[in-house]
Amino acid sequence: MKNLYIDFDGVISDTIEVTYEMMKNQKIDRTDVPAVREFYQNLDWVSLLETTPLINDSMEKIKKLHDSEKFDIAILTHVNSQKEAVAKIKYIRKFLKKITIIPVPKEVSKTETVCAEDSILVDDYKGNLAEWEKAGGIGVRFSKIKKESKYIDISDLEELLALSIDKC
Ligand SMILES: [Mg+2]
Repeated sequence: MKNLYIDFDGVISDTIEVTYEMMKNQKIDRTDVPAVREFYQNLDWVSLLETTPLINDSMEKIKKLHDSEKFDIAILTHVNSQKEAVAKIKYIRKFLKKITIIPVPKEVSKTETVCAEDSILVDDYKGNLAEWEKAGGIGVRFSKIKKESKYIDISDLEELLALSIDKC
């Protein structure tokens, strides 16, 4: 079995798109790092998660990946506050009973938190994938609409079943 880490925001749930829209409405400049951080820290994550759509039936796809017995799966998600971590864990647990959930404080990288070597990371953020590959892991870029990049690209988590990951 291959270790498979799956990002949450922008891969499982469409929180990136929804929160970017909220910031636009609140006139928050997304290049203003402290303002963005404050926005995410003050966000009501419970209601955000309840009202944000899942991406491409992600929770069902993760169940399929788990049932395939090809992967040892964990959800690896950056969090800006403890409240965000609690809300995400409670939300994910409603769908997935047997999947490990690892909240990572925003201040540290995913690569510092888990061992990336020979493990797969599915993430929508290229910065995370670059660090992951530097640490010996396999980066898979997720986007709702497929984009050309140097990474393996998927727009549906089920595509992982068809990848010959060992050759990557
Ligand atoms: Mg993400």
